[in-house]
Amino acid sequence: MYLVFWSFFALICVVLDFVQAIPSCDDACLFDTILRPRLSTNASIVHSSSAAPRWSEFNPPQTGTVVNVATEHDVLLTVQYCIAADIPFFAQSGGVGWANTFSLGKTGTTINLRGLNEVTFNEKRTEVTVQEGTIIEEFINAAYQNHARVATGNCNCVGVMGAALGAGVRRLMGLYGLTIDNLISMNIVAADGKAKVVTPENDPDL
Ligand SMILES: Cc1cc2nc3c(=O)[nH]c(=O)nc-3n(C[C@H](O)[C@H](O)[C@H](O)COP(=O)(O)OP(=O)(O)OC[C@H]3O[C@@H](n4cnc5c(N)ncnc54)[C@H](O)[C@@H]3O)c2cc1C
Repeated sequence: MYLVFWSFFALICVVLDFVQAIPSCDDACLFDTILRPRLSTNASIVHSSSAAPRWSEFNPPQTGTVVNVATEHDVLLTVQYCIAADIPFFAQSGGVGWANTFSLGKTGTTINLRGLNEVTFNEKRTEVTVQEGTIIEEFINAAYQNHARVATGNCNCVGVMGAALGAGVRRLMGLYGLTIDNLISMNIVAADGKAKVVTPENDPDL
């Protein structure tokens, strides 16, 4: 936790120092100069919202920047950067969410999680670890290959976590419950920029 605090504090200092030193550097320049060198090699930053395609063009979040994260640590750093630089941000996994509340504007940032799509079953196939950008098609295919059943949504293109955040409904829920009924633990980055592992024991409310 101390490490997270100090990395967050250090990032705020870097952002403030840089903005004072080069006031002509715009948001895109700041992303490329401050955040990009800290991300993993396979991550990328694109200054166009079309870099993260969505299922529907109805009221999509037209953000100015897409950060394609490649590791969990990239997610943490990007959230911390956006908080430090006062940039509104939005997580996207399946890109199927359909609402008129995604107005972040050109100064906003999409954190595109689709690169994080590994699905790993334990040896007995009683537990599965799903990365946050996995879509239902990938989850079901992995379950089929492992001769397992999983509690997730029905539609292939939907994000597993996106559906889970709304409970996660599908045909097998009469037997196994909703997706959220089956969660054992989650690695999250909270809105305050801190990473934590949430379980029913250490955070029953969340
Ligand atoms: C054609 C269609 C079929 C559907 N079928 C089903 C179904 O069978 N079962 C079901 O339960 N629901 C279903 N839904 C509803 C679907 O679960 C929701 O629309 C859900 O929000 C989509 O998630 P997404 O990741 O695809 O979309 P996104 O637009 O990527 O995300 C939706 C919301 O969740 C947030 N979010 C997504 N992933 C993360 C993450 N890893 N961490 C933090 N925040 C995150 C986003 O910021 C956004 O606010 C369906 C919707 C459509 C349009």
